[in-house]
This record gives sequence, C-alpha cells and structure tokens, in this order.
Amino acid sequence: MPSPTAQRTLSDWVHIRQCQLSRALSRRLVAVFVTVALPALALATPQVDRASAAGPRAAVMLPEKSINGRAQAPLTALRFRALVDGTGRSMPDAVVVVSGDTIVRVGRGDAAVPAGARVIDLRRYTAIPGLIDVHTHMTYFRDKRTPAIAGPRSKDSVVMASAWNAMRTLETGVTTVRDLGASNYTDIAVRDSIARGAMIGPRMVVAGFGLSKVVTTARTGNAAAPVPNPALRGRVSSAADIEIAIKAQVDAGADWIKMYGSTGSFQNVTGVQTFSNDEMSVATEVAHRFGKPIAIHSYGDAGGRAASRAGAESVEHPGNLDDATIAEFVKHGTVYVPTVDHNRFYAENAPLLGYTVPQVAELDSFRLLNLESVRRAHRAGVKVAMGSDAVYWMFGENTRELEHFVTAGMTPAEALATATVNAAALLRMETKIGRVAPGFFADIVAVDGDPLRDIDVIVRRVVWVMKGGAVVVDSRK
Ligand SMILES: [Zn+2]
Repeated sequence: MPSPTAQRTLSDWVHIRQCQLSRALSRRLVAVFVTVALPALALATPQVDRASAAGPRAAVMLPEKSINGRAQAPLTALRFRALVDGTGRSMPDAVVVVSGDTIVRVGRGDAAVPAGARVIDLRRYTAIPGLIDVHTHMTYFRDKRTPAIAGPRSKDSVVMASAWNAMRTLETGVTTVRDLGASNYTDIAVRDSIARGAMIGPRMVVAGFGLSKVVTTARTGNAAAPVPNPALRGRVSSAADIEIAIKAQVDAGADWIKMYGSTGSFQNVTGVQTFSNDEMSVATEVAHRFGKPIAIHSYGDAGGRAASRAGAESVEHPGNLDDATIAEFVKHGTVYVPTVDHNRFYAENAPLLGYTVPQVAELDSFRLLNLESVRRAHRAGVKVAMGSDAVYWMFGENTRELEHFVTAGMTPAEALATATVNAAALLRMETKIGRVAPGFFADIVAVDGDPLRDIDVIVRRVVWVMKGGAVVVDSRK
C-alpha cells in the first residue's frame, strides 16, 4: 500500500506525462495507470479527485472506501446545465448527489447542493444516464495497425487485450454491456475483473460460449482443440445436446444464453435458419428453467419469427422483418436488437479486413434492409434496444447505432431510450441502470450540447463519464 507521499508522486508523474502527451495518448496512459494502480489506490486513499482540479484531462476518481471496505460515503454533488433522463424528461440547472457508487438525490439549483459536499462543476454540459450496449464481443481483439494478424489466442492474452476494448467503450459513454458470445469463458474473466476493480471497463453481463449448430455454423472462435463433449463449448449436434450446452454455460457463470439461430456474421449476411423452431423452443425452455434469459441471433426473418414465438427475450440482427414477424415481436414483447451499424463498420473497413467488393455490396444492401426493418418495427411498437455488435476496433464507435435509429424515424429521445431504459429493462436492471435517479448506480455521462435536439451530441460529444461513482473519462479542456 503506497504512502500518501507515494500517491502524490504517482499523481504528479501522471500529470507531467499527460501534459506532454497528445489527448489520445494520454487516455491510453490513463488506461494503463488505472489498470495497474487502481486496486492499490482503492485501498490506500479515500479520494482521488482529479476531475475538479485544473489538472489532466483524463482522470480517475474512485468511490470512497475505508480500508476495511466499508463505505464512508461522503457526498459529491455534480452540477449540470441540464439533466436528460432515459425517459426523455429534462431538468435545467440539475444537481445529482452521489454517495459511494449510488445516486442519492437529484435536485435543482444551489439549494440542492448539500452543505459540505464536494462539488464537480459540469455546468457547461448536459447529463444523460450511462449508456447500455446490449450486444458486444469484448473479447474479439484485432489491432487496426496490423489487421491481418488474428487476435490473441491464449485465454490470458485475450483477457488483457479486452481491457483496450473496455476503455474505448467507456469513452463512448457506455457503462454497461451485454456481451453475447466468447470463447473459453474469457468474457467471464473480464466481467469479474471489472467488477472487482482489477480492470477498468463497463459493467458486463455475459453469455459464455454461444450455442451453434455443428455442420452449418462452424465458427472459428469455437473451433478449438477436440474436447470430450463439444456441447460443453456450445457446439450442438442434436436437440439432446442443447441442455448439456446450456447447463455448461450456466455452471461456468454465464448471465445469459446466446444461440446462433441462423447463418450470417462478419462479411456473410446470409440468414438461413440453423436451429429448428422446435430446437429454439427447447433452448428457451431450458434457459428459463435455469433462470437465464436467452438472446437468439438471426439474420433472417424466419429465424427471428421462430425465436420470438419460442419466447426468446431478444432477437439479434434480423434485416428483413415482415409484418407477421413484427406482429409476433409485439405480441410476445420480444426486444429487437437490430445491430445496423456493424455492417457499416465492416463495409468501411473492408480493405483492412480483406472483404471483397461484392461482399461490401451485400453488406450495404443488408444495412438498408435492416434500417427499413427498424423503421417498420418502431412504428408498430416493437421494443428496440441498442446493440453495436462491436468487435475489433469498432469499440469506441459503440453508439453510432443511434444515428441509424434516428434515420429510421426515432426522435433523439426515443433513440436515447433504446440505450437506457429499454436496454435496462431487457437486462432486468431497470431499477439500477438507465436512469439518473435516487437508488440507481451513479452511471452518468456529460455531453456537450442538447441531446434531445441532435443525436450527434450523444454519439460524438461525450466529455466526461462516471461509472458507479468513479470518474473514468474526463476530456474537458
Ligand atoms: Zn454478435
């Protein structure tokens, strides 16, 4: 445990280094700093409030803890030009009072600032709730500078590489993700490391190995060395394997079950159903019996309809929903996670990813179909949640999905709801995340501008992020 002097020295060093470095580089330094030094500081110091000082732009402020871990919980008052909640309600001159990792009060004006509270003045900015990305692959890493080189293979190096994706995600204002499919339970290691404070990143719920049908949907991530029972790694050959596969994920600590119900991923946008309607029903029944919700991937309409009828909580990707399927989604309360933007990412990065011109044309036409499906589903009253399907260096662009939602006819407030209240309800965390209200986690994002007028304010003008009472991004001038 460092002495107070040692802390000052470390802080000064960070300050000096950050003054010398570019903004991008300084953020990376902070990522390293927080990963290495944070656990020690969490024990050693009651407060590291660098956000309120005229110091470095990127900063970390920890929730207050005593050495024995009991929260002492002094109050921090955050002041904003306005607060826009996940419900779209707006309050000018907002004051959010935080104790430990929790919001204790929301009020207005000077009178709402408790006596003796530490004040962080963000009155140039508007507060929105920490955002939720309900479809990521945090453990899929490739370096944009060497895109042809496959990501790390060993479990340990995959976990370490995920730290980069996790920091980029926080910088977009996303403080919670649902991660839908990873190999070797690396997602569980990342989730637990973040929860324990050993890594900095968004709060995660994870699925372990996604269930895929052997023969038709072999996925490189799952094609590892032979194991006694492939179903343990989500590889399903028959209906009898489904329960084995799901139980293995639950036993390993998965929060959700993921099923790949159709072909289609990366440059492949075919949507041929792989698991039968009956198999989807079995999977849903088994997942629910284990107390876990299930997300079913389907690029095609038929698989999406079957997934909804089977009772899946969410259906991922479908790009050509017909009216009958949209009606099923409404009837069953199925959440639609369109993931429009990942095909934009693949198309724009085709040269780096080695995708061909015809493949880019297919990605582009699927994206237009997808956009049209969002438009019709939203108009019909389907619940929509924001999922980026981010992989590789798409982390940092997690919220660009919201631009497509506005293009498809949502208001900025409706788009914001897809990444806050709608997503929180899908994750069954609607009393803890997705709103800035007493009793909720102190997950708060400051944006520069009015998010209700221009979605770009949320997508590109995040300046400051607090997750669970800790300031994890601060790029104020
Ligand atoms: Zn995915």
